[in-house]
Amino acid sequence: MSDQPTPMMAQYLAIREANPGALLFYRMGDFYEMFFDDAVAAAAALDIALTRRGTHQGQPIPMCGVPVHAAESYLLTLIRKGFRVAIAEQMEDPAEAKKRGSKSVVARDVVRLVTPGTLTEESLLEARRHNFLASFASVRDESALAWVDISTGAFRVMTCPPARLAPELARHAPRELLAAEGSKLDDLAAEAGAALTELPANSFDSTAAKRRLCAMFGVETLDGFGNFSRAELSAMGAIADYLDLTQKGRMPLIRPPVPEALGGAMQIDAATRRNLELTQALSGGREGSLLAAIDRSVTAGGARLLERRIGAPSRDLAEIHARQAAVAHLVEDTRLTADLREALFRAPDMDRALSRLALERGGPRDLAAIRAGLTQGAAIAAMLGDDDIRVLADAARDLTGHDELIDLLDQALVAEPPLLTRDGGFTAPDFDPELDETRRLRDEGRGVIARMQADYIAETGVSSLKIKHNNVLGYFIETTSTHAEKMLAAPLNERFIHRQTTANQIRFTTVELSELETRILNARDRALDIERGIFARLSAAVLDRAGPIGQAARALAEIDLTAAFADLANGEGWVRPQVDDSRAFLIEGGRHPVVERALKRKGQAFVANDCALTLGETPAIWLLTGPNMAGKSTFLRQNALIAILAQAGGYVPATRAHIGMVSQLFSRVGAADDLARGRSTFMVEMVETAAILNQADDHALVILDEIGRGTATWDGLSIAWAVMEHLHGANRCRALFATHYHEMTSLSARLPGVENATVAVREWEGEVIFLHEVRKGAADRSYGVQVARLAGLPTVVVERAREILHQLESGEDKGAGRPAALLDDLPLFRAAPAPPPAAPRVSAVEDRLRALNPDEMTARAALDLVYDLRAML
Ligand code: ADP
Repeated sequence: MSDQPTPMMAQYLAIREANPGALLFYRMGDFYEMFFDDAVAAAAALDIALTRRGTHQGQPIPMCGVPVHAAESYLLTLIRKGFRVAIAEQMEDPAEAKKRGSKSVVARDVVRLVTPGTLTEESLLEARRHNFLASFASVRDESALAWVDISTGAFRVMTCPPARLAPELARHAPRELLAAEGSKLDDLAAEAGAALTELPANSFDSTAAKRRLCAMFGVETLDGFGNFSRAELSAMGAIADYLDLTQKGRMPLIRPPVPEALGGAMQIDAATRRNLELTQALSGGREGSLLAAIDRSVTAGGARLLERRIGAPSRDLAEIHARQAAVAHLVEDTRLTADLREALFRAPDMDRALSRLALERGGPRDLAAIRAGLTQGAAIAAMLGDDDIRVLADAARDLTGHDELIDLLDQALVAEPPLLTRDGGFTAPDFDPELDETRRLRDEGRGVIARMQADYIAETGVSSLKIKHNNVLGYFIETTSTHAEKMLAAPLNERFIHRQTTANQIRFTTVELSELETRILNARDRALDIERGIFARLSAAVLDRAGPIGQAARALAEIDLTAAFADLANGEGWVRPQVDDSRAFLIEGGRHPVVERALKRKGQAFVANDCALTLGETPAIWLLTGPNMAGKSTFLRQNALIAILAQAGGYVPATRAHIGMVSQLFSRVGAADDLARGRSTFMVEMVETAAILNQADDHALVILDEIGRGTATWDGLSIAWAVMEHLHGANRCRALFATHYHEMTSLSARLPGVENATVAVREWEGEVIFLHEVRKGAADRSYGVQVARLAGLPTVVVERAREILHQLESGEDKGAGRPAALLDDLPLFRAAPAPPPAAPRVSAVEDRLRALNPDEMTARAALDLVYDLRAML
């Protein structure tokens, strides 16, 4: 056996070497094959069979493959599992290669590198979400972040100091982040859920960047797009370079870069986004998030816009007011809103169709999508008439003036074109005379065949004779084998040339039939050729107007979002908030949209609550106490969500709201509630809290839920106390602070602007009833024991706990141990002082209880514990 690789293997190895860091999909006929380590990794990741093919250097070569027609779903799995995939296609017809000699290998080359940030296939993308590729660059002491969605062409850039990178990544949630080699951004990228791709330093060269960007946009200078710093150029240039690399020179349609101001949006960091479950619930999915609860958009573009607005609520008063005015207009005119939504519903995703066409991955349906989108757009513009509401008027303007293209597409395309250009059949009759003529020839051929079959039946007397077609033989005449003798004998054998005998059939051809076949095939090929030409022409006509079409797509998204907000406001009884420059925060009858929706499904009502952070010279902080399960977290979060919705330009779930512009929003939850992240360490909690204290300015809104809980009581109380003092004295911002530590309520007497509030509960026959009502004042006790009873702890354990609590409280009052004040809020199961003497059996129960930390228990573990305790009695 020779060590020389076969010519094909040599080609494979050369392509493999030229594309490091990616799995190589090597096209062989109807399969993409993978070899060597790629095969081993892919077989495991895809759960497909690993086989062998030939040997290399004396070793069998591992191999696996996926069929080309099903490749997309395999690609998706691989990308989700963190792979990138280089796709090597056959660059010529295998017949060509054969002509060069029997040893000749079909030319192959990588046509595309598929990475998480560069997907365009409809099946690989989520229609209602953006798919961002981001790039972070530092030039001397400046740094910048650029991000692009190649499936829609949106391209943005901003100056971004390293300290701001984490929150900006959290806002955009890119699928992939580009950074220079050695950037050490692994953790940040992982935190943001992005795949990190490190590029060599020359990808980030800012001089080369100018050249690349000019080439990408076909301009001489970038001045027309704005003034960019070197860091911004470098970040954008790396994106251009990477697109060139991954798309192998076929540039996606990217819109000119839009610079974004750092202060343009409400700042919301990653932890806050997570805690507030803005676009994703803590459990991971979209369901249960704010986005899922309020999304009434009817187009994918509208849904993506909503996600952007929720992720980056505005800080521009004029913009907020203009959007509110548009929503208000549609809230009033419910008829118009319904008509708009009806028309929008029929408008397809033009952004993504356009980007596929630009990448030459589009098909007739993408052309049809543009036609339908623009047609609906024109109808929508007409509905809006000459409205004087700015947002709507601007959108209507962008939706007009596309008539010429609509007409062209209307004439050219059939009503429902097929998916692929390859098979033709998308061009309408009467569009191209030559095509019509060729099609006639082709179809006539089919008629001739029918006639020929009738003739042959008459001639042979075999009534079951048929003319059929398959890919191997082309057209052939078929009879059952029972007629073999007759057909193969004179005189019929002179005309009927035998081609094939199968188990039951015998097949023939005739000179006539092969001639006709050639004519039909020629006509078919010619028709396909003409149609390919038509597709190219239509594509070019669309791409010629890519700019205005993109604008029309954005206009549709804006109208969709406005109508969706109006529909939501009317449907749920939301109000238009007053937003201004002040530091007010007044909510009357506020509700939590997600919790309210969940309760409604169960037939329960949500209790609306007010929040009034008094303005003035002093900072305004509410300190919220109350038992577990009373509704503290819900109240805290609903106020943050109302601020977000207000600045996103929407209405809010309240009866009245006055919100002074919020510059930054912070929300933190004590570690025990944060188990979903799997790193419920006290350290994380403290790092995140430190970020607030270091960053919050006087227009910030801070929401702290049980901060300090992740440590021992005294530590926790001290930390919570100090954090509160810092917020009040140094940050001087609006804050809502929920705590277990009852001692903290005394702060309100010492710090002006700090007020106590509590979520009311009522005790009735020893049981606690949650009223979910937020009132001024401090909670008088924690009701931990009662809550334990509600949770289903056996009566005897609850009774025993009540006794212990009582003893502790009275014992402490006698000065026997720690300050009595602490016991105001004694959490169940945390009793530390020596227990009163008790029967041994009970003592075992106590021991067990004392040893555990309820905050760290899962529901399942708690249930098991109850069984254990019961068994110990
Ligand atoms: P806490 O933070 O005080 O432990 P939560 O805010 O988690 O309490 O609320 C516990 C449960 O109480 C929620 O899951 C919800 O079902 C219910 N709840 C909270 N607030 C309200 C309200 N305002 N109206 C009705 N039910 C509420």
